[in-house]
Amino acid sequence: METDAMSLLRAKIQDVFNEPGCEKNRGKDAKARKEGCSKPLTPGAAAGGCAFDGAKIVLQPITDVAHLIHAPLACEGNSWDNRGAASSGPALWRTSFTTDLTELDVVMGQGERKLFKAILEIKEAYGPPAIFVYPTCVTALIGDDIEAVCKRAAEKYGLAVVPVNAPGFVGSKNLGNKLAGEALLEHVIGTIEPDDAGPYDINILGEFNLSGEFWLVKPLLDRLGIRVRASIPGDARYFDIACAHRARAAMVVCSTALINLARKMEQRWGIPFFEGSFYGISATSEALRQMSQLLVKKGADPEILGRTEVLIAEEEAIAWKRLAAYQPRLAGKRVLLNTGGVKSWSVVHALMEIGIEIVGTSVKKSTVEDKARIKQMLNDDNHIFEQMAPRELYAMLSERKADILLSGGRTQFVALKAKTPWLDINQERQHPYAGYDGMVELVRQIDIAIHNPIWAQVREPAPWDCQPTVREERPLTRSETLTLHAVQEFAGTTANDFGECRGKPIVRILPQTKAAAVNPLKSSQPLGAALAFLGVYGAMPLFHGSQGCTSFALVLLVRHFKEAIQLQTTAMDEVATILGGPDHLEEAILNLKARIKPTLIGVCTTALVETRGDDCAGDIANIRLKRTKELAGTEVVLANTPDFDGAIEEGWAKAVTAMIEGITRSGEQARQSKKIVILPGWNLTVADIEHLREMVESFGLKPVILPDVSGSLDGTVPDRWVTTTYGGTSVKDIRELGTAERCIVIGEHMRRPAEVLQGMTGVSYVLFRSLTGLRDADRFVSLLSTVSGAAAPSGVRRQRSQLQDALLDGHFHFGGKKIAIAAEPDQLYQLASFFIGMGSEIAAAVTTAAKSKIVEEVPAQSVQIGDLGDLEALGAGADLLVTHSHGRQSAQRLGIPLMRVGFPIFDRLGAQHKLTILYQGTRDLIFEVANIFQANGRAPTPEALDPLRKRETPDELRPSPLARH
Ligand code: SF4
Repeated sequence: METDAMSLLRAKIQDVFNEPGCEKNRGKDAKARKEGCSKPLTPGAAAGGCAFDGAKIVLQPITDVAHLIHAPLACEGNSWDNRGAASSGPALWRTSFTTDLTELDVVMGQGERKLFKAILEIKEAYGPPAIFVYPTCVTALIGDDIEAVCKRAAEKYGLAVVPVNAPGFVGSKNLGNKLAGEALLEHVIGTIEPDDAGPYDINILGEFNLSGEFWLVKPLLDRLGIRVRASIPGDARYFDIACAHRARAAMVVCSTALINLARKMEQRWGIPFFEGSFYGISATSEALRQMSQLLVKKGADPEILGRTEVLIAEEEAIAWKRLAAYQPRLAGKRVLLNTGGVKSWSVVHALMEIGIEIVGTSVKKSTVEDKARIKQMLNDDNHIFEQMAPRELYAMLSERKADILLSGGRTQFVALKAKTPWLDINQERQHPYAGYDGMVELVRQIDIAIHNPIWAQVREPAPWDCQPTVREERPLTRSETLTLHAVQEFAGTTANDFGECRGKPIVRILPQTKAAAVNPLKSSQPLGAALAFLGVYGAMPLFHGSQGCTSFALVLLVRHFKEAIQLQTTAMDEVATILGGPDHLEEAILNLKARIKPTLIGVCTTALVETRGDDCAGDIANIRLKRTKELAGTEVVLANTPDFDGAIEEGWAKAVTAMIEGITRSGEQARQSKKIVILPGWNLTVADIEHLREMVESFGLKPVILPDVSGSLDGTVPDRWVTTTYGGTSVKDIRELGTAERCIVIGEHMRRPAEVLQGMTGVSYVLFRSLTGLRDADRFVSLLSTVSGAAAPSGVRRQRSQLQDALLDGHFHFGGKKIAIAAEPDQLYQLASFFIGMGSEIAAAVTTAAKSKIVEEVPAQSVQIGDLGDLEALGAGADLLVTHSHGRQSAQRLGIPLMRVGFPIFDRLGAQHKLTILYQGTRDLIFEVANIFQANGRAPTPEALDPLRKRETPDELRPSPLARH
């Protein structure tokens, strides 16, 4: 039997269906009107939101109200916190409240009691001016009398408790919108009398303030002296809505949602209204015009009409001028619009004005007039559709060669799976599109989306879908070996070295001019050499200098790796410094040999002995000659790494070169066809090297990686104390590098060791400047396929597909973002190329040295040779700082998030286990950056969006005290 509440609700629904303000209804006969607009649902077919959803969408942006859902968990638990409306004050609306009814509550009929108690709890804990109570299907079905509970609670607790009677089963989301309006009308509007009503008061109905976009419009109204009495619901307060009946006029923004409310307010309180839109330039102007005209009709001074025209003329001129800048980039681009309605006409008009072609638009919720206008503009019925199934939309994108789909989140993946740019212009959009500035923002976002470089990448065929052409250049003469590039053409690229960016503008390299380095970017060269020696099994790096240098380097290495690091010193004291260090060096080597029996002692010179001019190479040769017997079984190699030159990159490369020169057997040797030497750059993490090895092995190849820190610094716990490194490349393997079929080099700084290996053994090399990004990973896979003769395994193919998906999902967070990076040259190139490939801009690029030729290839306008002080000065205004842990203070001062890369990373765990290369590493980087942006996203504020304020006080960046003079 139907309850009283249900029969009342039925009557209300009939009333809503009869709405004469709705133009669709005006075209219907009485019988058709009674049936409403919702199409009957088809069991088994996908359905939209329910009436409860619609009611909550309309009311929840009322920011200081507690919204309490009286239902089992699913209704609220599955739907809360999913809308992008913004508040300039209270945040209570973002807190989710539900009575979370259990089976026992339902069976025992305890729902009403629980609701009553929940209202009290919320009142006591949060003290809101009102609580809105939403019954849903189950509580409506079991007959909980929500109206009665709300009435009693309101009386007892002395607070407004508003029943919003729109259980899901009564109909569609659209019906729920209207029932929400009814609830306001019945229980809220007109319940408080304001004492400041005036002739310029208006209501805005159906404006949700998504991404704060109403704040792009409100300053225009303020300038005209128009006061928004109540904005329903965007950024609304309960008090304002309760006083809304004293406004002189109203604008209905989303006519289908709250038209009933507007009409009934006109009927009850004589508030005239018009339907308008803030999307598009002419639509915004028209809305301002109509607003002023209605106010004048209701008694406002007619001089407002003239002021309105002046404002419109000024704002239109500014907007069109700004839009003109996009014209050359967007003219002729083809847009498919599937907006759900209200924006169709105005957006179509504005886009066409700047030369964009509309290849199709939905008119699902457009008014009859808007449809007629669109028809006239597009001049072809073919371009107009009511609504479309995803499959048809997918086909339409390619048939009509659309460059972008503008739609809501539901069809996002239709576009992305069709590898077509997409922009959200519905509920969940990230950017404000209302008003004049909003239109410019929309066009800017279209530009960013269409021109994001990921589209070219995701549309490229996989390497296994094209036949790689391999041309091998064997050296004709000995001297030519120095510049040999063994494999030049893969998958259509002709770059000499993979990763090279051809035809790009010349990078300006700005030299270091300051006397005082401010917050150094670099770590010392001997530290880089020590790190490389740590990648050899049984090794002991030995700093030849004073003990302090060793101690600092040791502490930094320990803080970064969180490992026991093996590092020794020749401990030059005052006497040794004056008289010379060979004795100290000999003593240290012999002591180490006797005490810990390392397979390798890697001597790294420091500035002290280099400044003294010690002949360390000669000293070591003497020691080895003199102590041949004692040193049997231990290699001693020397890397000349004075601290006053280079940084980690150079030290690492010098140590690898020294090991090849000192240990590898010279001369052409019988080759093992599956053996590949890999010389990774220092910037590859432990996880990178492990991943690299697995990838190479998956093609049936046998890699020898030098150095291999994945074996020695991989964060494992040995079951005994080990005095040297206990993993890494073996000395035997270093000796036998000449038997490899080929050498793969990662990073420009590793060219020198590769050239030395080639010169000594004839093993040719292929150099990859970076292995991050889809294209570089493709080239690497192509190379492995070619060298091994094996097809890419299914796991590798799957990883590529996952990266494509990550590019599609992640690129929204990168487009147009400004990135400031400080890193050593190869890592700077790797990261800058990655960000550029995702559609970001490099706002600042700082590195340690100009010597490396990779610096000229960094995709940035200029590269500053400098320090973190330079990064701070140049990076102000960026969206993200990218550098090591020492950058955290700059990030804090600038209020910009920091992405930690390189060395040292001492304030985070797991730096070594972060993957940054090939398909998986690129995917992980995309997620990491996107998550940083999401975690640090700033909520929009009225001040930040205010278009008039921005024009008067353009953002000027204050010069940093750290800026160079
Ligand atoms: S249809 Fe009913 S039960 Fe389902 S979410 Fe909507 S209100 Fe809740």
